[in-house]
Amino acid sequence: IISKLPNLNNSIFSTMTALANQHQAINLSQGFPDFDCPKALVDLTYSYMKKGYNQYAPMHGVQQLRERIAEMVEKQQQSVYHPDNEITVTAGATQAIFTAIACIIRPDDEVICFDPAYDCYAPAVDLCGGLVKTVSLLPNDFSINWDDVKKVFSHKTKLIIMNTPHNPTARTFSDEDMQQLIKLTRGTDIFIVSDEVYDKVVFDHKQHISVANYPELKERSFVISSFGKMFHITGWKVGYCLAPTKLTTEFRKVHQYLVFSVNTPIQYALADFLRHEDAYLSLADFFQQKRDYFADALATTPFEVLPSGGSYFLLANYDRISQKSDIEFTKELTIKHGVATIPLSVFYKNRLDKHFIRFCFAKKQETLEQAIARLTKVN
Ligand code: PMP
Ligand code: GLN
Repeated sequence: IISKLPNLNNSIFSTMTALANQHQAINLSQGFPDFDCPKALVDLTYSYMKKGYNQYAPMHGVQQLRERIAEMVEKQQQSVYHPDNEITVTAGATQAIFTAIACIIRPDDEVICFDPAYDCYAPAVDLCGGLVKTVSLLPNDFSINWDDVKKVFSHKTKLIIMNTPHNPTARTFSDEDMQQLIKLTRGTDIFIVSDEVYDKVVFDHKQHISVANYPELKERSFVISSFGKMFHITGWKVGYCLAPTKLTTEFRKVHQYLVFSVNTPIQYALADFLRHEDAYLSLADFFQQKRDYFADALATTPFEVLPSGGSYFLLANYDRISQKSDIEFTKELTIKHGVATIPLSVFYKNRLDKHFIRFCFAKKQETLEQAIARLTKVN
């Protein structure tokens, strides 16, 4: 067999969750809540199943859901997308990202990715024959050096992948970053895939800054989000892609033959649930309480905590505890101390020999307290 992805193994999320389960460790590695989703959402889904909404949904998504998404995006981000031809419901953000990349990238096209990046971008580019060009974001602030972006920019650049709030660093991109992106792409045919799955989880009363807020970026962008993060339903795998008509037309050509359509009763349930805007407006406060508790408590241990501006992750440095590689350290932390986390280096394409790990704090208060009790003993 000739592998198209010879260097890929199981994802770090599967690996660390399996290790956590094997050793009964508290799982702060893979990003998912350990509390349940709203009961009303389950009841709604069940009621639609009982009413017989059990066959294929329209290819691009249930009308009501696309309308509610349009309303939510307009209210929250003041950006307007038409439900008929600019919004597509997808099987999670991962499928949306793959679909957007697949409908743009041809062999030898270059794609600019920040390093570190969430793990599903590069394999999708590789499968399409594209070439990933990385721009390093380095600890501790992980800010974008736009001169470095210009250095990897070429006539072959076809796509830039943005992600704000950023996983794994938990930093958010600024207005200045967007202005730089506008300058860089003005007068070109470059596309943007903007992964904004944590758009509702921006802390400290800051507004989420989306590429969709900038007309010059919006016209070339696929903006992707996920209900998994919004309503604590990562296992339901429903997300969406916002893009201008021309881009959506191409997106749907791929979507149609990748999944055709997405889970019907869940789409109806989500459409009803989205009528209550407090269901998502309170999300930032909800997770900020968890961030504050966890960051403050972790700061009393030998770990050095880095700021988290959004998402449900935070990074910490363990230099004061160990000089082992982050991969060794996370294994040891899981097996010996009973807390599973993610090593930061796995998100880098270019080697990073620094000592950072990622914690997920989307967990019950008691889980976080138990984890802190264990982490306090690490030395
Ligand atoms: N992008 C980022 C940055 C993520 O953290 C995740 C994981 N939730 C995804 C995409 C994938 O989202 P989904 O589970 O909806 O496919
Ligand atoms: N997005 C989640 C994380 O960053 C993981 C999703 C997955 O397991 N693919 O932890």
